[in-house]
Amino acid sequence: MICPKCSAQTRQIKDGRTAAGSQRFRCKQCGCRYTPMPKDPGYDEEIRLQALTLHLEGLSLRLIGRLLLVNHQTVANWINGYANYLPADLPPSILEMAALDGDLADILALEEE
Ligand SMILES: [Zn+2]
Repeated sequence: MICPKCSAQTRQIKDGRTAAGSQRFRCKQCGCRYTPMPKDPGYDEEIRLQALTLHLEGLSLRLIGRLLLVNHQTVANWINGYANYLPADLPPSILEMAALDGDLADILALEEE
């Protein structure tokens, strides 16, 4: 392993895993932590959680995919992966936030296309 910050190649130790399950490392030269190979570099945990939230709101996978700019098959994979464990506290619903902004009609209009 090579530290991305100080470029040291020695004293790189394993330092647990990220929420997504990727191996994380820590440089004992400069103390920085890094993840050399993120498991799913395209999408972070937040967008997957948003997809799940929208799914729980009853939106279709295609609509979720369109809102989050993710392939709907990818969304389906995420939701299948989450099927066994639903987090206790979901973040504020995107639909609720959209309703406050007055964009809910726009979102629902999308569905009817
Ligand atoms: Zn370092």
